[in-house]
Amino acid sequence: MPHKHAIMLLVAIIVAVIAGGLMGWVYGPAMMAVEWLGKLFLNGLKMLILPLIVAAVVSGVASLGDIRKLGRIGAITVGYFLATTALAVTVGLVVVNLIKPGEGVILGAAADVESLAAKGEVGVSDILLSLVSPNLVASAAEMDLLPLILFSILLSAALTTLGKTGEPVIGFFNGLNEAMMKLVTWFMYFAPLGIFALIAARLGRAGGGDAFIAELTAVGMHVLTVLTGLGIHTALLILILMVVARRGIGFIIDMLRALLTAFGTASSSATLPLTMECATEAGVDQRAVRFVIPLGSTVNMNGTALYEACAALFIAQAYGIDLSLGAQVIVFLTATLAAIGAAGIPEAGLVTMVIVLKAVGLPLEGIGLLLSVDWFLDRFRTTVNVWGDAVGAAVLHRFLPAINRETRP
Ligand code: ASP
Repeated sequence: MPHKHAIMLLVAIIVAVIAGGLMGWVYGPAMMAVEWLGKLFLNGLKMLILPLIVAAVVSGVASLGDIRKLGRIGAITVGYFLATTALAVTVGLVVVNLIKPGEGVILGAAADVESLAAKGEVGVSDILLSLVSPNLVASAAEMDLLPLILFSILLSAALTTLGKTGEPVIGFFNGLNEAMMKLVTWFMYFAPLGIFALIAARLGRAGGGDAFIAELTAVGMHVLTVLTGLGIHTALLILILMVVARRGIGFIIDMLRALLTAFGTASSSATLPLTMECATEAGVDQRAVRFVIPLGSTVNMNGTALYEACAALFIAQAYGIDLSLGAQVIVFLTATLAAIGAAGIPEAGLVTMVIVLKAVGLPLEGIGLLLSVDWFLDRFRTTVNVWGDAVGAAVLHRFLPAINRETRP
């Protein structure tokens, strides 16, 4: 996309976010009339995800040239994911222990969360099992992306060992990837309208400005704690971007369209096509874009990890349960897992939070306290999730020359 177009589109998206917020605030439920427009945009993005993710990962891994590089790149990527997720949980735990948002909360708001708890019956082994699918078609049908990514990495690794026989297949996926990215640039022109509709309709569903404010103030300190934590973590990621990836404000501006889309859609998977497109425009090496971002959009969720930790401790404080240091270490570990296990779809973090609560014996009904504002906080944590992936791609980009040198025959 030419630079001038990108800037104009960014301005249009910013206007859309503001206008959507204002209209939803003022007109309330009437704005649900535009819900279908938002859905159309979301469906369009989701339509691209499956072919894009497979084509991007296959062509990305194949373009490494030497399969030895995959190990190094994989180690850096996983190392980055784990380190930043751990950092996010730590930030979450520190702010929630300092602000203590749960103290004095009135428990009356607890709602029926039985259905949520039933869905959330997942343990550590389930997360590991979810990596390998016995039926790829079923995974694709359910938009279960992780097994598809794993399969694509294996397929690509196998193709690169086949020499001439593998080349046409890799060529096919290269072409498919480019076609999908072309579609993304076309779809982007619809983003302002789609994002406007998504935000206006969601605020409308919440009952407009006044109803929203009432919901917000009921758990106001919780909202403040999560937003403070997310703000601090975003700043830390910017620091990593500047120090490790050696990039600055230009990168943030280039990524803004994807970040605002994350805010509008509350889904890192749906935002994936735009995250890849913006990172490409920011000049990030294609190998880093195609490897880190698809994987990151499903497993690297810094915002969700931070949120899980904050929310679990908020519930403990609200119920007057004092969590020992040992219990907080368990929260730390399970929040990390819960974030990895959460799908990149709206409010997925709320479901995997059951893992954290169960691990330290907190009442699941506590989730009821968070339900009313979760859609709102979800948008912020999704934005941070996408930001973490973008910074990850920039970090890997920085290490690629060194990896090339090391693996030279
Ligand atoms: N909505 C988030 C995402 O797509 C996941 C979550 O925290 O609920 O990244």
